[in-house]
Amino acid sequence: MRKDYYKILGVSREADAETIKKAYRRLALEYHPDRNPNNKEAEERFKEISEAYEVLSDPEKRRQYDLFGTVGSAGGSAETIFSQAVEEIFSTFFGGRSSGGRRPQAISGEDVRIQIQLSLEEIAFGVEKEVEYLRDEICELCGGTGSSNKRPPQSCPSCGGSGQIAYRVGGGFFQQIVYQVCSDCQGTGYRIIERCAGCGGVGIRKKVYRQTVQIPPGASGGITLALRGAGNRGPWGGPPGDLLIEIHEKPHPIFTRKGEDLIYEAWVSYPDLVLGTTLSIPTLSGEEIPLHISPGTPSGEVFKLPGKGLPRYNSQKRGHLLVQVHVWVPSKVSREEKRLLEEMRALRAFQPKEKRTEKGFWKRIREIFE
Ligand SMILES: [Zn+2]
Ligand SMILES: [Zn+2]
Repeated sequence: MRKDYYKILGVSREADAETIKKAYRRLALEYHPDRNPNNKEAEERFKEISEAYEVLSDPEKRRQYDLFGTVGSAGGSAETIFSQAVEEIFSTFFGGRSSGGRRPQAISGEDVRIQIQLSLEEIAFGVEKEVEYLRDEICELCGGTGSSNKRPPQSCPSCGGSGQIAYRVGGGFFQQIVYQVCSDCQGTGYRIIERCAGCGGVGIRKKVYRQTVQIPPGASGGITLALRGAGNRGPWGGPPGDLLIEIHEKPHPIFTRKGEDLIYEAWVSYPDLVLGTTLSIPTLSGEEIPLHISPGTPSGEVFKLPGKGLPRYNSQKRGHLLVQVHVWVPSKVSREEKRLLEEMRALRAFQPKEKRTEKGFWKRIREIFE
């Protein structure tokens, strides 16, 4: 179930807070249940509008939503599978219609943490991945109520739904009130009379769940992305936790990563360095880029291909591809090759002349950026 919150509110993805607020007000007035009595469609629409506004009006939630596109965020999709009974609980929790006595607090589901391995190519361009994980789902036997008769759970009579029992300890000046977890409901505040056989009374069961996640370009190892509402469902219809996705990087066979820059080491023959040549340099996109090596290039020289590195997370900027050339030294030569090299060795041009200060790789890199 994918929902496009921007479409629901009829605003563009770039809309500012004020525009979103205006659109919400207009639509909420139009579809408000008070104005549309007994209109199921308007009620659904009103719910949708409120859900969209809840996400888009909160900068943090909106950022998350933008990152993951229209994929099941904010727990909206879950409602469709809820039974009538659970919807009743929901309206009690969130509708604020408390009728005497204390209602138990909704218990949130826990976050689920998973790890995914990404190649540098996937990091460079972003990727859509299908992930599979175990999470608490609404028990379909009891519709999430925890009771075999599918009735919404009642408040625990021992603690009145608060989950705690207060005791007076000591006397006179030293009297204290001590709170203890209610032993009848284990602090949940609910009383389940006929426990559901499928879930043991909590209304949730572990199940394998498949979820498509959008990984934005530029994520790097060590980053954790959160997909709101895709974690464990809460007991008795409580709100879901988040899915936390830990990013791990697969080492690349030919590129080394240094922040947003990539390093590629090219092996070049000695005559090519002396006489100059054009190399074909691979990039992450699969495109090969010609790199001109001018005559007399020293071994170890570093060339910069601007913008061919990795994108910066949450930015339009990209790093560079740094190419370091090394002279290729064969480990074995034939008799004829040896003879040619002996001849070369005797020639004056190949004798080292001035003392070249050896520059390390990082010194050369620094020079390139200066
Ligand atoms: Zn209790
Ligand atoms: Zn159950």
